[in-house]
Amino acid sequence: MSIASQSSAADLPAIKTRVSELLGTRYPIIQGGMQWVGFAEMAAAVSNAGAFGVLTALSQPTPEALAREIERTRGLTDQPFGVNLTILPAINPPPYEAYLDVIIGSGIKVMETAGNNPKEFIVKAKAAGVKIVHKCVAVRHALSAERNGVDAVSIDGFECAGHPGEDDIGGLVLIPAAARRLGIPIIASGGIGDGRGLAAALALGAEGINMGTRFCATIEAPIHDNIKQALVAASERDTRLIFRTLHNTARVLKNAISVEVVETEKRGCQFEDIRHLVSGARGKAALAAGTPDDGIVSAGQIVGLIDDIPSCATLIRRMVAECHERLAVSQSYFA
Ligand code: NAD
Repeated sequence: MSIASQSSAADLPAIKTRVSELLGTRYPIIQGGMQWVGFAEMAAAVSNAGAFGVLTALSQPTPEALAREIERTRGLTDQPFGVNLTILPAINPPPYEAYLDVIIGSGIKVMETAGNNPKEFIVKAKAAGVKIVHKCVAVRHALSAERNGVDAVSIDGFECAGHPGEDDIGGLVLIPAAARRLGIPIIASGGIGDGRGLAAALALGAEGINMGTRFCATIEAPIHDNIKQALVAASERDTRLIFRTLHNTARVLKNAISVEVVETEKRGCQFEDIRHLVSGARGKAALAAGTPDDGIVSAGQIVGLIDDIPSCATLIRRMVAECHERLAVSQSYFA
């Protein structure tokens, strides 16, 4: 029987790396922070599938609500999960420190940080015994995070959803560039959504992967089915880069809003001119109502490889099986 046709995750070999050991999971696969998606249902489904689910702190209206969401997740899974805290420009800057205190106080063992220079957060979380996976988009940022004491780095290639930075380096170069320079384990992020991508990431020197968009198109993702269908329908050419002119680039799904934002930016604009189009509150409403043209929907180039909406367990099982087979096929090429 081929490994891909085996019926449950328990039949498949685990993937043991420094990342799976850090996370305490069967597979070194992380569901990265996703604004308005990283709720308890999402994180728990991923963790129950043998990967590492992550709550998105800023999707909670207050730090107190985050504490309740962490408890709610504990009611849905007995497996390890983490919390993402992202520091980027925001219309109403959140009380980051108070969110951090909740993460530390709630007994979370691993947190994902992302965005601008979170050195003070890293020091404080580390002092409290919380392990840190820092997500960044450049080798120089990864090296700086390593010096600041993070436990692993997620290196986010240009293919990714959300904020890819301004250097535009794809994962095929960025992942080995990071792997060559860092001593701590790296996690490949951006453009991964199947077993081929997982196999490639391991071959490039990563010890785990981070996925976002692929997890949005799963049964358990807490977003409207119309949005999931829009992801399935999209090709790899159906993302757009907004905020390029503001040096806060974000890759999002091509839709009426993102096209209008790009056109407005081309003409030259300030953030205030597009604020009504891009606000997180508007994107959140679109995700919930299932109206993909009404707000910004984050999506990476991997949408071109998403053509179904499986459960998280099926997705992970399929990816691990396919990864195993792809690596075996590659091995067989050696004469
Ligand atoms: P928001 O409504 O505050 O802002 C909407 C978008 O506009 C965000 O992408 C933000 O970065 C950008 N933005 C805001 N002010 C800006 C400015 N002055 N110049 C350039 N760009 C600006 O966003 P939100 O949806 O309420 O999210 C809150 C925060 O979480 C934002 O900083 C956002 O970037 C960040 N975020 C987190 C994740 C995650 O996975 N954790 C993913 C994406 C974004």
